[in-house]
Amino acid sequence: MRKIDLAFDAKHIWHPYTSMSEPLPCYPVKSANGVMLELEDGRKLIDGMSSWWAVLHGYNHPVMNEAIKTQLEQVSHVMFGGITHQPAVDLVQKLVEITPDELECVFLADSGSVAVEVALKMAFQYWHAKGEKRHRVLSLSHAYHGDTFGAMAVCDPANSMHSIYGDYLPNHLFAKTFTVDFDEEWHDSAADNLREIFAKHHQELFAVIAEPIVQGAGGMRFYHPNYLKVLRELCDETGVLLILDEIATGFGRTGKFLACEHAEIAPDILCLGKALTGGYLTLSAVLTARHVAETISNGEAKCFMHGPTFMGNPLACAAANASLSLLDNGQWQTNVNRIEAQLKAELLAPLQDNEHIQNVRVLGAIGVVELKRPVNQARIQQYFVDHGVWIRPFNKLVYIMPPFVTSPEELSQLTGTLVNLLLRDDFSEFVL
Ligand code: PMP
Repeated sequence: MRKIDLAFDAKHIWHPYTSMSEPLPCYPVKSANGVMLELEDGRKLIDGMSSWWAVLHGYNHPVMNEAIKTQLEQVSHVMFGGITHQPAVDLVQKLVEITPDELECVFLADSGSVAVEVALKMAFQYWHAKGEKRHRVLSLSHAYHGDTFGAMAVCDPANSMHSIYGDYLPNHLFAKTFTVDFDEEWHDSAADNLREIFAKHHQELFAVIAEPIVQGAGGMRFYHPNYLKVLRELCDETGVLLILDEIATGFGRTGKFLACEHAEIAPDILCLGKALTGGYLTLSAVLTARHVAETISNGEAKCFMHGPTFMGNPLACAAANASLSLLDNGQWQTNVNRIEAQLKAELLAPLQDNEHIQNVRVLGAIGVVELKRPVNQARIQQYFVDHGVWIRPFNKLVYIMPPFVTSPEELSQLTGTLVNLLLRDDFSEFVL
C-alpha cells in the first residue's frame, strides 16, 4: 500500500479550522473497524469522537456496508428534479414516522450547514408569502449552527467571528447566556430575557433558532428543558417560527431520540444531519409542518427556492435507511443510558476539585471536561494518540462522545486516559 504523503497534505490540503501556514499535525488513518481507527503505522485508537457526532454504529458496519453496496449497483446518483427513487421515499416515510406528528414535509439537503440555510430560507419565505418582510432571527449566545454565511449569522458572534465578516452578516438578535443548567432547579425569571426580547422585537422576527438542550461547538453547554418550553410558548403566542437544529443532538445522543423530547415540545422546522446516515455519507434533512410548507408554496414565489445538485442522493439515503433500521430495535437507548452512567461514574467524581478544571458535565453519551485554560492542541493530541485513544479537544473543552456500540472496557480506556492526563503533575504543560 502507498504511504500517505503527510508533507504534501500539510502543504496543500486545508483541514477543518486550521492554518495553511502553520498546520496542526494530521494522523494518517488507513482503516477503521467498529470503534477502532487504525493508523498507517498499525497503531489502533479507540474513537471517542464518533467522527463529530456522526458515527453511531461504528465503522465498517456490515449492515451499513451492504446497504450502500446494494444501492451502488442500482443507482448511485440521479438528479432529484423531476425524478424520485425508493431510498428517498423510504427515508422520508421513516423520518415522518419517527419525528413529532406535526412535521410532515421533508427537504433533503447535503450537509448540516445547508440544512440550516434551508430552514432559515423557509422561515423567511413563509413570512414573505404572508406579505410581511421580516429580516431578523433570534438565536442564543453560544449557539453554533454551521459555517456558511446564513448559518454563521446565527452563531454566537464570538465563535463565528462576526467581527471579521462585519457588515456582510445580517444583524440578528442574540439572547443572553442561559443561567439554569440542565439539571439545576428551574426558576421562571431565567427566561425573562427571552420574554423581553419577544415583547420588543417579535414583529421583526421571522424565526427563532436553537440547538435543543445541548449547545455543541459553541461550548458544549447543557441547558434546562424549561428554557426551550418558554421559547415554544413565545413562538406560539406570536406566530414566530421555531427552528430546532438537531444536527448534533438528534438520533439518541442526549439520551432521547430527539433532544426536544426533554422539553416535550416540537419545532415548526427541524434540521437533522450528521448521524442521519450513521456517519457514512453526507446528508441532512429539514422537516416542516404542513402549514409552513403550504404557506410557502402558496406565496408569491409559488415554490421553495432551493435545489442542491446532490439533493436526495440515493447512496446517502440508503445509508440513512440502514442506520435508522439499526436504531429501530431501541438498543441505542440501553447503550446511551449505559454510557451516560459510566461517564458519570468515571469522570465526575475523579475530577472534582481539580485545579485545572472549570466544570465537568455529562448528558446522554456526551462527557465534557471544561478546563480553565485552552489546550495546547498539538501536544494533547499527541498524548492521546500515544495512549491509544482518539479524543480531539478544542479550546478549553476536552470531551468524549463515543459511538453507541462502545463497550464498557473501551469507554474506560477513553475516560481513564483522560483522567490520568488531567491528574498528572505536569498537566499545566498541556494547556496554554
Ligand atoms: N448545526 C450544528 C448544531 C452542528 O453541530 C453542525 C456541525 N458541527 C452544523 C450545524 C453544521 O453541519 P455541517 O458541518 O454538516 O455543515
